[in-house]
Amino acid sequence: MTKLPETMKAVVCYGPEDYRVEEVATPRAGKEEVVIKVGACGICGSDLKAYSGADMYWAGEDPWLKAPVIAGHEFYGVVAELGEGAAEKHNIQIGDRVTTDQINPCGKCMFCETGRYWMCQVHNIYGFQRDVAEGAMAEYMRFGSTNKIYKITDGVTDSEASLIEPAACAVHAVQRATIEFEDVVVMAGAGTLGLCMIQLISLKTPKKLVVLDTNNKRLAMAKKFGADICINPLEEDAVQAVKDLTDGYGCDVYIEATGSPIGVTQGLEMVRKLGRFIEFSVFGQETTTDWSVIGDKKELDLRGSHLSPYTYPIVIDLFERNLLTAEGIITNHFKLEDFHEALAMAKNPEAIKVLLKP
Ligand SMILES: [Zn+2]
Ligand SMILES: [Zn+2]
Repeated sequence: MTKLPETMKAVVCYGPEDYRVEEVATPRAGKEEVVIKVGACGICGSDLKAYSGADMYWAGEDPWLKAPVIAGHEFYGVVAELGEGAAEKHNIQIGDRVTTDQINPCGKCMFCETGRYWMCQVHNIYGFQRDVAEGAMAEYMRFGSTNKIYKITDGVTDSEASLIEPAACAVHAVQRATIEFEDVVVMAGAGTLGLCMIQLISLKTPKKLVVLDTNNKRLAMAKKFGADICINPLEEDAVQAVKDLTDGYGCDVYIEATGSPIGVTQGLEMVRKLGRFIEFSVFGQETTTDWSVIGDKKELDLRGSHLSPYTYPIVIDLFERNLLTAEGIITNHFKLEDFHEALAMAKNPEAIKVLLKP
């Protein structure tokens, strides 16, 4: 076993707009724990929101984000150290390419005990809670003993491996939508998650897949990934266009992944009566709407989607079978020490997924 270095480079979050590239102690694997040498870590919309100081991370006496903490939850890497019993428990060896869920489940709460670990009551997400869930914007990272660890098979490229976390969240959202052959599906938002969902929705072969985004470049990619119709709501009345496509009824399924309040109100308008509305986005601000649409007017099925329960193996298999691609979605790579440049790029609408590589 190669010895891990005493210290490593990492991006440490201290507070809003205070992230520093520092030399910190390399994590070591305790009982049934695993340390990986990080291959890459993506910058997520939630990292941008945490950086800018959004209330959901920082508000209150005891904020959810426990700084100082190493950021980063979209990762893969190579097994570098195995704690006592870890090789047997996780069926892995030094040198295997692996990843794990972005959540470090407590293993003890009612949700964990009943197999619903993604809703763990404690809810430690890698990159957000110091000590128990340090993240992957670093040279090395530790997986907790309660994590399920997934081996990444040889047919999956390193770029694809970097996209496993967002793609796994996309699979869960698409599963929540229970798409049928006769459905007209509207996918709102063609960012990293939306572009993954578009590929996955196409695999489900609905009657029509309509994609909405305000960025024409992303719409062009959506088309390439299987969208039948692309609409830019800044250039065209999207609600009217969807109604015209559906004899005035509206779409059967609406998946909201825009991150913007208008993505919600527009969806409630264009989804048909008895339709399914899937809420995926994390919002930086509150959304207001007329709730009577959900009950009295349309009797909608409103379904939330959170994280990626049991979907990592599905994504690895879809990449392996070339049914899913990262091509065009991963647009930029930066070194860890260039974190601030990477962040600036992640905010640029020209970029889609920006990666940090140690
Ligand atoms: Zn993320
Ligand atoms: Zn739990």
